[in-house]
Amino acid sequence: MSNIIFFGPPGAGKGTQAKLISHFLNISHLSTGDILRKKLLEKDTLANELKIIMSSGNLVSDDILNKIVSSRLNSEATNGFILDGYPRTLKQSEFLNNYLLETSCKINFIFNIQINFDTLKNRILKRSSEESRDDDNINVIETRYNEYLNSTQKVSNFYKEQYSNIFYEIDGSLQIEEITHKIKQILKKT
Ligand code: AMP
Repeated sequence: MSNIIFFGPPGAGKGTQAKLISHFLNISHLSTGDILRKKLLEKDTLANELKIIMSSGNLVSDDILNKIVSSRLNSEATNGFILDGYPRTLKQSEFLNNYLLETSCKINFIFNIQINFDTLKNRILKRSSEESRDDDNINVIETRYNEYLNSTQKVSNFYKEQYSNIFYEIDGSLQIEEITHKIKQILKKT
């Protein structure tokens, strides 16, 4: 059983890789961005609040995310899981650590997909025309990238220090297939 975290800035390709690897290992893929986007379709008060936050590129509150992730891990992650887009803040990583302790689970692999800002800006703009996400426009990209630098990068640095034996840096500028191949090699080797 493998439990995996994918880190990386928006547009680094972590969603694509998380999906491919979840099929390869037959484990759950928990993308918090996808889960939140589904919630937007419910069009209730929470959906309206989420829409305002997400379309501006800011982070949704830790309480909402922690509840979503713990309930999905409880119901879906019996065979292992990939966390894609979570934890994004130190509070979320504390919550996750407590959850893992309580459930006697541990993380086996952490992949940090790195990419420079210009490459990801072009990718996100391309995705915006393909998927019509309203947080994929030029004004919002910078806010999302800054959220990453100010918050999520601290979280991945924390994991890099604490879990250096299972933390792998991945070059996100490579082709999708090459990245998948590299990740699969790491999974097979260990
Ligand atoms: P993503 O598809 O992962 O880029 O997420 C899209 C948006 O959903 C983000 O810009 C945030 O507004 C929100 N979001 C997703 N995951 C989280 C998280 N772990 N914490 C806070 N907000 C999140």
